[in-house]
Amino acid sequence: MDRLGRDGRAMVTALVSLCCLGTAAQAQAVEVHNMRLWSAPDHVRLVFDMSGPVNANIFTLDGPDRVVIDLDSTDLDFDVDKLDLDDSAISKVRTGVRESGGLRVVLDVNRPVAPKSFTLPPNEQYSDRLVVDLDYPGASAVKDPIDPIEAMIRDQEIAAQRAQKEAVAEGKPEQAEVVASAVEAQPHPKRDIIIAVDPGHGGEDPGAIGPHGTREKDVVLDIARKVKQRFDQTPGFKAFLTRDGDYYIGLRQRTLIARQQKADFFVSVHADAVRSSQPSGSSVYALSQGGATSETARWLAASENQSDLIGGVDGNLSLDDKDEVLRGVLLDLTMTATMNDSLATGGQVIDQLGRINKLHKSSVEQAGFVVLKSPDIPSLLVETGFISNPREEAQLKSSAHQAKLAQAIYEGIVAHFRQHPPPSSLLAWQRDQGRGGASNEYRVQRGDSLSQVAASHNISMKALKQANGLDSDILRVGQVLTIP
Ligand SMILES: [Zn+2]
Repeated sequence: MDRLGRDGRAMVTALVSLCCLGTAAQAQAVEVHNMRLWSAPDHVRLVFDMSGPVNANIFTLDGPDRVVIDLDSTDLDFDVDKLDLDDSAISKVRTGVRESGGLRVVLDVNRPVAPKSFTLPPNEQYSDRLVVDLDYPGASAVKDPIDPIEAMIRDQEIAAQRAQKEAVAEGKPEQAEVVASAVEAQPHPKRDIIIAVDPGHGGEDPGAIGPHGTREKDVVLDIARKVKQRFDQTPGFKAFLTRDGDYYIGLRQRTLIARQQKADFFVSVHADAVRSSQPSGSSVYALSQGGATSETARWLAASENQSDLIGGVDGNLSLDDKDEVLRGVLLDLTMTATMNDSLATGGQVIDQLGRINKLHKSSVEQAGFVVLKSPDIPSLLVETGFISNPREEAQLKSSAHQAKLAQAIYEGIVAHFRQHPPPSSLLAWQRDQGRGGASNEYRVQRGDSLSQVAASHNISMKALKQANGLDSDILRVGQVLTIP
């Protein structure tokens, strides 16, 4: 048996070699065995899964707009009608065999697109791939981009903060005071605080996968959408998602989107996984000192960042007009303030998560994650739970549990901003009203009494009642009093 078998195998091997030699010329044909499509607000990505590497020639035609993808010596073994084209610029995919051999794929598109492509070698999960990205010129990376007026207010605030930091860095604190009071003198913009909610992974990157097949990229998108919804329901806040669908965004790109949208805060939502099914609970990460130091060095050193900015766009915090030492001090000041804000907010988020879920670690951990590296935007990464733990995997899929996690993240961040509102925000204005600050109005807070309000404004109860036409001493929370 053994001997026969061995001989048989040898013969088959010989035949295969012969046949391969005989057809060497045509044997190079590569097969497209699958195609995948990921649709984002500003581009669509089409991935060809191939049996080997391929040469591609890609060009566009207009009237009507089309993209042509020519693949040398390639056969198609995939039904293109299976592609879900919804939400993408591609309205139809057509294919044909070229006379010279090879495959032509034509994408009918409903808007002008700018194609770019690259190939990827095989990895554990996939074979050779050709990736074609069709960018939409002028499109925003987020579905609901920042309003131009809000953006302008934010730019002004960032410029003022920069001037203050510069005054401090140059050792002129009096100047910082002048800048601060000049900003306060303008009519209050009462702007929204902008929160970037970043669902981890997406597209070809599924993130961690649970024992029952739950994908991290799906559950974190659900949770992130709930976080956004909570902020959008809250006066004084507005949130956007860095990813609102199943597509991939690079890590640096996520922080870039946050900067373009002038985010006050960035929170990345993930789910943990380890080999063991035992570990469970939530954890919260802020940037580590090591990560901050290396990032500061990167910003200072990288010449490609000359046009890049710290603290805003359009030259607000471009550092190239400053000498080396001042740039370093300025960056350190910015980075330190950002890290302190991140850690303080992380503490609030941990506190809230601890009320609804087991904590994997009871204090904020620090790591050098790339998405946490914005020098000027306080940032957190929340590992909501262990998708590798079967019980937590089930919880992460439950809408009710997702809502609790979202609420905890939201509450923690809101608590921080209520204590430290940015100067031009509605929250800052409300706080100043509460203190009876610059305005001659006062909004009644919980626990206030008429005598307290009168005393804190150095007026008599009688004068206060007269000015507001009150005939009793009873106040309602939220009632606005004129201070005579
Ligand atoms: Zn993750």
